[in-house]
Amino acid sequence: MTPEGLALLRRGAEELQLDVTPHEAQFARLLALLRSGNERLNLTALKTEEDIVLKHFVDSLTTLRGGHLDGAYRTLDLGTGAGFPALPLAIVRPELDLVPLDSIRKKIDFVRDTAAELGLSHVTPQVGRAETLGQSAEHREQYDRVVARAVAALPVLAELALPLLRVGGVFVAQKGPLSDEELEAGRRAAGEVGGRVTEVDAFTLPVSGDARTLIVLEKQRPTPARYPRREGVPTHQPLFWKAK
Ligand code: SAH
Repeated sequence: MTPEGLALLRRGAEELQLDVTPHEAQFARLLALLRSGNERLNLTALKTEEDIVLKHFVDSLTTLRGGHLDGAYRTLDLGTGAGFPALPLAIVRPELDLVPLDSIRKKIDFVRDTAAELGLSHVTPQVGRAETLGQSAEHREQYDRVVARAVAALPVLAELALPLLRVGGVFVAQKGPLSDEELEAGRRAAGEVGGRVTEVDAFTLPVSGDARTLIVLEKQRPTPARYPRREGVPTHQPLFWKAK
């Protein structure tokens, strides 16, 4: 990583009161692996160092705002793609037990290889769909935390994430700007699947000033057995929301 890249990482981390100095070598290695993996696998649209550091690393770390990931939590990253936010979180939070989930095998292969290269033994990537895991005894109501970045509309996310959480667990959804309509549909969907929206944290990324929103949902009661509905239905017929 160049000195400029490192400075950007430090600045972003500082805004989160996070000291990344002990982890800089791992972030540099992750940057290199992403760039070489990207050439082979076309994993991410972001190609420049500045974009990757800001929009993948710093952006992923903003899930720490609010302190919901400060503990030894079993945490699922729903739709992790090339490992975001899971891998940056794993680097700075070794006490988390992290399960990056994606339905696309080549992405999970990359996340598994990368986690191994970085020595992140607390990361156990999983290929699958959230709809399937949400109805399996092995995963349903087994997680303390779920995170998801840039995966779906809030009501879709609520239906996919809440079944995976134990009662009392917390879902941190990471999005760009959020409309009142999407938030309202998300609130209603959360109620339907056993939870409640407890925080809406709108902020901007450092340097770029891009708008971001963290939406925090708490699971309050067991999810009704009919949720999540079968594969594809949460996305194509979202609860309380017009499908796109
Ligand atoms: N979180 C990553 C990737 C976002 S793209 C990032 O921010 O960079 C959304 C990802 O979610 C895709 O890789 C897609 O395969 C995955 N995905 C979408 N719906 C899913 C589902 N129902 N179950 C599992 N993975 C899903």
